[in-house]
Amino acid sequence: MVSGKKLEQDQHIRLSSATYEEILAGQASDVYFERSLSAASRVKHEAHVVAEVTLSGPLDPWVNFSGLNEVMSLLLGKGVDVYSIPEGTIIGPRDMVGNPVPFMRIEGNYDDFGEFETSILGFICQSTGISTYSTKIREILGKTPFFSFGIRRMHPAISPMIDRAAYVGGADGVSGILGGKLIGQKPVGTMPHALSLIFGDDKAWEMTVKAAGKEGVKTVLIDTFMDEKFAAIKAATMFPDLDYIRLDTPSSRRGNFANIVREVRWELDLRGFNHVKIMVSGGLKLENLQELKAAGAESFGIGTSIASAHPYDFAMDIVELNGSPLTKRGKHSGRKNLLRCSSCRSTLSVPSSKSSSTCRCGGKMENILVKMLDGGKLVGPYDNPDAIRARALGELEAMQKVAQCL
Ligand SMILES: [Zn+2]
Repeated sequence: MVSGKKLEQDQHIRLSSATYEEILAGQASDVYFERSLSAASRVKHEAHVVAEVTLSGPLDPWVNFSGLNEVMSLLLGKGVDVYSIPEGTIIGPRDMVGNPVPFMRIEGNYDDFGEFETSILGFICQSTGISTYSTKIREILGKTPFFSFGIRRMHPAISPMIDRAAYVGGADGVSGILGGKLIGQKPVGTMPHALSLIFGDDKAWEMTVKAAGKEGVKTVLIDTFMDEKFAAIKAATMFPDLDYIRLDTPSSRRGNFANIVREVRWELDLRGFNHVKIMVSGGLKLENLQELKAAGAESFGIGTSIASAHPYDFAMDIVELNGSPLTKRGKHSGRKNLLRCSSCRSTLSVPSSKSSSTCRCGGKMENILVKMLDGGKLVGPYDNPDAIRARALGELEAMQKVAQCL
C-alpha cells in the first residue's frame, strides 16, 4: 500500500512546467486576474474594452517582434478581435515623436480575455527577447552562418519556443529535435565530446564523418584531448573532404580565442587545407563575434547567450471602455493605428480613424497593424517560420539601408 507520505513525495517530483491545457485554461496566470474577475462576475457590468500592448523597457533602438503565434493559439475561439504588427517586424519601441508604439490591440469583452494577460505577455516578452538577440547576431555576422545551440541552458518545456525565436530572428538552424520540427527544418549538430572520450578522437571523427554521408556537412570537434592546431592538421589530413573543424575550447585554456582561430587558420592554409572551415562555439556572446569572424571563424554555435536573451517588458493596458477613451495614468488612451513610412521607416502612433499619412521625409506612411483574429477566428492563414524569418531579414536589410542614407 502506498502511504500518504509517499504520495506527497511523488507530487513534489513532478515536472514543474505548466501543461498546454493549464496554460489555455488560464492557470499559468497571476492569481489577481482570476480573483478580480470572479468578484466582478457577481456584479452586473458591461466591459467591452480595447486593450493595447506597448513596450515599457528596455528601450533598445529596435526589437524583432515574435511570439504572436502562441498568443493567437491562446485567444483562438475567445470571441475577441486581435490586431498586431506581424512577427518578424523590426521596429523601435517609440515612434518619431517619442510616443509608445502599439504592437498589438485586443478588442472584446474583458471577461473573455483579461485573465490571460500574464500568458499573453509572457509569450511575446521572452520570444521577442530571443528573436531580437538573434537578429543582432545576424547584423554582426552578415551572411556567416550561426546556429542556436542553447536549449540545454533553459527549461526543456520551452526549448521549441527558444529555437523558433532564434530561427525567425535569423539563425541558420537549431539543435533541438522539437525545435526543428516546429520550424520545419532538420535539426543540426556536430558531435559531443563524449564520443571522443568513449572511442578516442580517431574513431569518433571517423564515425561522425561517416554519419554525415556524402552530402552532409562534415564537422569534427577537435579540442577534446589535443592542442587545437595539431588536432586540426590531423583531422584535415585524415579526411580530405572535411568541411569544418569545430573549436569548443574550454575557457580555462582559451587565453585569446581569436588568436587560436588565427593560428589554426594559418596552419591549415599553409598545408593546403583552405577548404576546411573553422566553426567556433562555447560561451559566445554578441561582443565576441566580430573579432572571431575577423580572425577566420566561418560558422558559429551560439548557446546560453541566445537562449537566455533578456526579455522585453511588454505591458497590456485598457485604452478604451465601452466606446470611450479611458486608460490609467502614464498611458495614452484611445484605440490606435501604427503608421510606418515606406521610405525612412519612421513610425507614428495615431488614432485609429487615421490609416495613412505623409511622412516628414515626403514618404507614404501606412498602417502596419494587421487584423489577425475576428471574433476569435483567424482572419487568414498564419505565416510559417520561414516566411517570418524572411520578413525579419528583409527588415534588417531595409533598416541597414536607411541607416546608410542618414
Ligand atoms: Zn519617412
